[in-house]
Amino acid sequence: MIKMYTSNKGLFISFEGVDGCGKSTQVKLLRDKIGSEGRKVELVREPGGLKISEEIRKILLNPENSAMNFETEALLMTASRAQLTEEVIRPLLVKGFFVIADRFSDSTLAYQGGGRKLDLNILKKINSFATKNLVPDITFLIDIKPEDAMMRSGLASTDRIEGAGIDLQKDVQKTYLSLAKEFSNRFIILDGYDSISSIHSIIWDKIINYSYED
Ligand code: ADP
Repeated sequence: MIKMYTSNKGLFISFEGVDGCGKSTQVKLLRDKIGSEGRKVELVREPGGLKISEEIRKILLNPENSAMNFETEALLMTASRAQLTEEVIRPLLVKGFFVIADRFSDSTLAYQGGGRKLDLNILKKINSFATKNLVPDITFLIDIKPEDAMMRSGLASTDRIEGAGIDLQKDVQKTYLSLAKEFSNRFIILDGYDSISSIHSIIWDKIINYSYED
């Protein structure tokens, strides 16, 4: 076992949670903190990355593609992730970078599995295929009720959300919590109602106490 502090190795960290839970806030704080310690660090965001992933992102986000079926959505998300993993994440990890992902494979399980009701076991296989089994070392799940997350980020007010919309988000949240139990070796659940600075302190504490199995 070697501690993160005394190692030259990189670390792959992912952040998960419903939209508006505070992921990008924490991702940036962690990036700045790791950078201020003189370590190499890079942020990646899904779907996207370099050229091919960005092209896939355009298809996924284009409002004209609203007829996209759930299987297509799942395959495009994982296709984008496959490219991002091979082109960006793996090479950085090899160079000893800390790579922080604002969403990774667990998002597919939570949204396309829990939300869209696609078969979780099939999605797990597609994820493994896409990432060639790359799994984050640590996954931070920011736990907050979806309706509060939406209110907070100004995405919508609760009375304007269709019943089905909020139900889907609740299913996503439930799936995240069961994934955290299933993969308790790498998941850390954070209370999304804590202050930004106390969540950041807990994250930093987990990072500096991380030990590599050697
Ligand atoms: P996400 O990336 O998960 O969609 P953001 O980081 O963009 O979420 O946060 C959504 C909004 O909530 C932002 O306005 C942010 O400043 C605010 N926010 C983030 N974390 C907290 C927190 N712990 N407490 C209160 N507000 C927060």
